Amino acid sequence: MDPQSNQNVPSIVEEKITKHNGDIQIRQYLKGKFLGKGGFARCYEFTNQETNAVCAAKVVVKASLTKSRAKQKLMSEIKIHRSIRHQHVVQFQHFFEDAENVYILLELCQNQSLNELLRRRKRLHELEVLCYSSQIINALKYLHAHRIIHRDLKLGNLFLNEKMEVKLGDFGLASKLDFDGEKKRTICGTPNYIAPEVLEGKSGHSYEVDVWSLGVIIYTLIIGKPPFETSDVKTTYKRIKMNAYSFPDHVPISDAAKDLISKILIGDPSARPTLDEILNHDFFRTANIPKALPPSFLACPPSSQ
Ligand code: ADP
Repeated sequence: MDPQSNQNVPSIVEEKITKHNGDIQIRQYLKGKFLGKGGFARCYEFTNQETNAVCAAKVVVKASLTKSRAKQKLMSEIKIHRSIRHQHVVQFQHFFEDAENVYILLELCQNQSLNELLRRRKRLHELEVLCYSSQIINALKYLHAHRIIHRDLKLGNLFLNEKMEVKLGDFGLASKLDFDGEKKRTICGTPNYIAPEVLEGKSGHSYEVDVWSLGVIIYTLIIGKPPFETSDVKTTYKRIKMNAYSFPDHVPISDAAKDLISKILIGDPSARPTLDEILNHDFFRTANIPKALPPSFLACPPSSQ
């Protein structure tokens, strides 16, 4: 059956659980609303029929995992994600498979990603950017302390739950270092957010790639579009390597925000501020950062915008 054809038709998915004594238990989930699709997964709301607990299920069709690289990538995503527990990381719950698919059950984030938020809102107020980015930094500090680099930090991987808390998700490109000074060489990331040292590929990359992407995120939320965006990927990469970006005159931005972005978006990764240095920058110190924002901010900009 074409897996695309029944996108929104509720159906039952069964998980077979083999108990210690060899007995088989069946757990049923109602596969409900389609939440979205990524590079290799489709995501649905799943309801545990016994407990009524609702979660998000990433469904990966096994037939798409024929190449060993794809299988390895999925196994690495599961291994890294299941080892993490943090308030601002999408909680990994459980995974299982049946004949056709692998199912990854995750904490449900009802309010979509910062990508959809920005699309609706065009750009955000700096106080909101402070609120979201301080939560992202908290998640990154936790990951880096556990020697995990996310490597695909972008608006589309930053979800909002019903309390409007930010939850970092999609560990498909994440990497766990064996030791702190280790350098990674695989070219990965998403064009607009990719750090120059990843593109150069000469001396490898490390935690600083996430700091670079954070800088791109802060710029994008305040200005309304990514700093290096062009209509084709090659030109975007050229711009990233040349550090060619500017602050448009027509968009208001504080000196503190400009200064912080300029300090983060620096070609030399060792010259970028650490996450603690970022939190101690004037941009974060000047304001009373709200812990969370009301859901009404999803649709309508604050009146000063
Ligand atoms: P891929 O690894 O294939 O890129 P993603 O992790 O990006 O897949 O998920 C694909 C889409 O599913 C996302 O863009 C989003 O719309 C939706 N999604 C993913 N995780 C969740 C979640 N925890 N809660 C709600 N929706 C989610």
